[in-house]
Order: sequence, then structure tokens, then C-alpha cells
Amino acid sequence: MALIVQKYGGTSVGSIDRIRNVARRVARFHREGHQVVVVVSAMAGETNRLLALAKEVSPNPEPRELDVIAATGEQVTIGLLAIALHELGVKARSYTGGQVRILTDNAHTKARILEIDEERVRRDLADGTIVVVAGFQGVDKHGNVTTLGRGGSDTSGVALAAALKADECQIYTDVDGVYTTDPRIVPEARRLDRITFEEMLELASQGSKVLQIRSVEFAGKYLVRLRVLSSFDDPDSTATGTLITYEEDEDMEQAIISGIAFNRDEAKISAMGVEDRPGIAYSILGPIAESNIDVDMIVQNIGASGHTDFSSTVNRNEYQKALGVLREQKEKGRFEARDIIGDNRIAKVSVVGIGMRSHVGLASEMVKALAGEGINIQMISTSEIKIAVVIDEKYVELAVRVLHKAFELEKGPEAA
Ligand code: ASP
Ligand code: MG
Repeated sequence: MALIVQKYGGTSVGSIDRIRNVARRVARFHREGHQVVVVVSAMAGETNRLLALAKEVSPNPEPRELDVIAATGEQVTIGLLAIALHELGVKARSYTGGQVRILTDNAHTKARILEIDEERVRRDLADGTIVVVAGFQGVDKHGNVTTLGRGGSDTSGVALAAALKADECQIYTDVDGVYTTDPRIVPEARRLDRITFEEMLELASQGSKVLQIRSVEFAGKYLVRLRVLSSFDDPDSTATGTLITYEEDEDMEQAIISGIAFNRDEAKISAMGVEDRPGIAYSILGPIAESNIDVDMIVQNIGASGHTDFSSTVNRNEYQKALGVLREQKEKGRFEARDIIGDNRIAKVSVVGIGMRSHVGLASEMVKALAGEGINIQMISTSEIKIAVVIDEKYVELAVRVLHKAFELEKGPEAA
């Protein structure tokens, strides 16, 4: 007997039929003798609909009220799933985040979980009841409803699994696991049986949308065993999806590259011809950070005749804001620059794999493959297990296909 947390995303509970299907799978695990906690998202599209209602009333709604509204989506699905389980003759109870007491900070619309009181959940489980918990939401210490940021139900699932010391946290979604890359772009993309937590974290932060980044961080920190599976499979399916392991299993078949991620939500800003002196990077990055803009890649050229160029990437929807900040700083004379320029038609493509640690020459293989297609590289950055390049966004699909082929990702580790 195991204690399992299962999280179902919006498409998995997107209709009454699908909710019934979820109930059948949950009931099967229960029948097999496991204790099951289910975390659900709102029905597909519902959170968007709710937030749009608020925007109709005001262009600038207060975040506290947005949370009150957005959290209702999940309150509907927990009730529906509990009823569907009752229909199958099993005991089930639904709880909102506040009822469990998923305590968060008060950062409305992007709150962080501080503590979970798992007492009530444990009592229900002990008495054979399936516990259904609303994802995406919590409560602050004053009792205000909070939400965890878009895609936050993944984090709710992982956090509950950590608090309950669950044997496994299963994330059911509309794909049957983590792939070497997006199969919509590369039809030969292969489902991975396993991937390490570190690789998953890189893939998620480089643009793979299978799991919310914060949930992967959480899983790594609390050593939660995570598995990604399809909720569209038959409820009796024995598919095993992709296991995200927090340790490098010794018998784990080891590919050098595990996956390729890409992100089109990118933009580049550059300060050209800035003075090459101590403090210059801070005078550029400082004001950007103070404006709450996240920067990702940062590149500074080698200085020549006292001047250098400085570039960084930002999220595309913060592009105008970032440009504005730099132009304002330049006008105020905080730093001197020949020009502030930018480009919001770029994309980032990254190859990720822990095998990189013990292999040399991968960056050269990567740039060779891109050169072969005439794709110009604008920026490169590397970490121990990742090489990322910034290219013109119109080449992103081509780049992903070419790299998938160059690294023979369709073949799997045995054949490579
Ligand atoms: N319903 C929320 C959203 O759409 C949370 C989630 O689905 O994970 O972002
Ligand atoms: Mg989701």
C-alpha cells in the first residue's frame, strides 16, 4: 500500500466525461489498496474566463480580489470530482486550499506556500476516504484567499506530496510523459522513461511547459518522487509515463543529451558602446531589477579602446519596459552608451543533459549543426548541463529539428 498524490490539470477535468474518467482511475488506485490524495486544476479555460471577467470590470483589479475570483475555478472541480467518486461508491471529501490549510505568504496572484497542515488529510486517509484538494490556492495568515501563479496546481500537488511524505506524486496531463522535445515540432520526438530532476528543472526553465518550474524546484528540494502521465489513457492503463528522479540512478541508461527546449517569449536588449569600467554592469542591471524585470542571459563583450557592448535577454512582454528603463537611465546620465537597441523577434533554443558533464565538444557539435542550416547565433550561454543559443525566432522550429537529428535523440540511449 502506498500513499499517492495525483494531480490532474485543466484539460484532464475539462468536461464531465473527463471528470468521470479521472474518478475511475482514482477509484482503481483506491481499490488496489492505496491511499489517494487528488489535486485538481480548474476546468480548461476557466481560469482565463474568470480573470477576463475581472478585467471587464476594471483594467487594474486589486490582486486580492483577483485571487478571490480565480480560486473559484478549482472549487468547482473538487466538488464535481468528489461527487463523481461518490457515484462510483467510494468515500471522498473535497477541500479548498484554505480548508486543508495550505498556508501561503500574502503575495496575491503569485503566493508561495509556507506550511501545510496535513492533519485533516491524514485523518480522512486513515479512514479510507479519498481526499480531493483544490490546486492553485491557499490562504494567508489572515485568512485571505491566495493563488500560486498560473500553472500553480502542479506546485500544490508536489507540496502536498512533500508534506504527506507521499510515495509518489503523479502529475496527469494531456501528454503521456516528458519528451525529448515538443512532438508537434519533431514527430520523431521520444518519450523519456526517466529524467533527472536537474535536467527537468533546466528544461522547464528553458521553455518546456510540461511542469510549472516552481513545482520542479519544490520536488527537488523536498525529494518528492515525481511522475508525469497521461490522463487520457484508459483508467486501467498500466502506462508508466516519465519518472523524474532526484538521484542519478546508477543503472539509469544515460543519454548525453536528454532534451531540447525552446522559448519564443524572449527579447534582447543591448547597450552599445558603454564605458568599460567597474560598476557599469550594475548601472545597467540594477535599474532593471528594481523595475522587477527578470533578465535571463547576460553577455558582455571584451572591451576595446575603453568601450564594450552589453546585452541581456528578458521576457518578451517586458521588452518595452526594459528598453524604457535603459533609455531613461542613459538620458539621466547614469551611464554613457552610444545606443540602446533591442530585438523582440528572437527565440532561445537549449539542449540539456547531465551527460554533458563528462563529454566535451557538444557546443561545437551544436553550432556546427546550426551553421549547416545557415542559422545565425546571436548569443550563447552554457551551464554544466545546458547549452542555450539565441537565434532569430523564424528559425526556431528548424533549429529544434536539426539539433534533434544531430544528437540522434530519436534513437534513445541504447542506440546512441
Ligand atoms: N487553474 C490555474 C491556471 O489555469 C492553475 C493550474 O491549472 O495549474 O493557471
Ligand atoms: Mg497546468
